[in-house]
Amino acid sequence: MDNSSKINMESDTQNEMEEAFQKLELSTETKSLVKKHLTREVFQQLKGRRTKNGGTLADVIRTGAEHTHVMTGAFVPEPEGYQVFALLLDPIIDDCHFGGQSARNQPPPEFGDLKFFENLDPEGHYIVSTRVRCGRNLEGFPFHPCLTEDQYEEIERTIKVAMESLEGELATTYYPLSEMDEDQKQKLIDDHYLFHGKDVSLETAGAYRLWPTGRGIFMNQAKTFLVWCNEEDQLRIISMQPGGDMGAVFRRFAEAVQSLEEKLPFARHERLGYLAFCPTNLGTAIRASVLIRLPNLGANRALLDELTEKLGLQIRGSSGVYTEVQGNLFDISNKKRLGLTEFEVVKGVYEGTLEIIRQERNLEKNTRTEKGNYFPCTLL
Ligand code: ADP
Ligand code: MG
Repeated sequence: MDNSSKINMESDTQNEMEEAFQKLELSTETKSLVKKHLTREVFQQLKGRRTKNGGTLADVIRTGAEHTHVMTGAFVPEPEGYQVFALLLDPIIDDCHFGGQSARNQPPPEFGDLKFFENLDPEGHYIVSTRVRCGRNLEGFPFHPCLTEDQYEEIERTIKVAMESLEGELATTYYPLSEMDEDQKQKLIDDHYLFHGKDVSLETAGAYRLWPTGRGIFMNQAKTFLVWCNEEDQLRIISMQPGGDMGAVFRRFAEAVQSLEEKLPFARHERLGYLAFCPTNLGTAIRASVLIRLPNLGANRALLDELTEKLGLQIRGSSGVYTEVQGNLFDISNKKRLGLTEFEVVKGVYEGTLEIIRQERNLEKNTRTEKGNYFPCTLL
């Protein structure tokens, strides 16, 4: 690139950053953490900074500035960005993972007693399916805003080699997105196995650059072990199955993550744990979730919101983040991923779900009793 193109690009970036900052400052609808923490002082200090692959503050705040519905609104152009933009990102990380409590460094990986978890819903009344996933990225590569086409392909090849060495239940077949037909893709999306690739906040963040290059999914035959390739993070390692057997899901997850960890160098930071494109996914990078039907709590949404908040859990829609809840089918998962061990994260979801089921049952009983009493009363 010649000097004048460089100067033009630089002034475009400066303009974009100023505009993004103004949007955030003026917006009355935005409640994101980027808006909360990007003060004028922070903006002035960070606007000239660059990561080694050319990531800027514009890359960090673009999504928060464009979309009023997002909760965090920050993405990081490459691992080093967590240091370069720490002035903005550290308070965001504290809010996401520590909520006012003092921040804790990420402890070393610890999956704990794998026999601790059992089936949360042995009779299959409430839980439709259980899933544990984590995000991982490869050391030495930037994240989406700075990736080249060659790098997307190199990441895909590297992951493929590692995946091909897994055996037994963890043996998978790779389906590159570019080779899937629409029906096949849609069916996998509808069945909750595949990313839909239509999240506007990810799009603005740059996660769909050069799509579908390097994107795809590895699946075992039973579709209980899956790895997403180059979606939001370079890997999303997923264990899932119908029903509420968190024990089986977590054991498979632990085995898969530990096996892949031996073969792939994952980007990790002493304080922040596994590094991710979005600061909400640091630490263990785990989201453990149940898809659970709660007709009674669902009819009393304020109570369910209060309960999940108290339990440190988060509610998503029936098809994941920023989707609607349909037919009282809730995606309930941990809110925090950083400052806890793998075991502690999943234990929080496990015990929280048991409590939610207990309360759903109580409401169910009350409704039945009310109905039971109703007829004799009217007859009298
Ligand atoms: P992630 O944190 O894994 O990116 P998303 O909210 O983007 O989660 O959702 C990705 C997909 O995973 C969606 O199709 C969502 O419905 C599905 N999903 C999440 N939890 C479960 C679960 N317990 N059972 C089945 N599918 C799930
Ligand atoms: Mg997602």
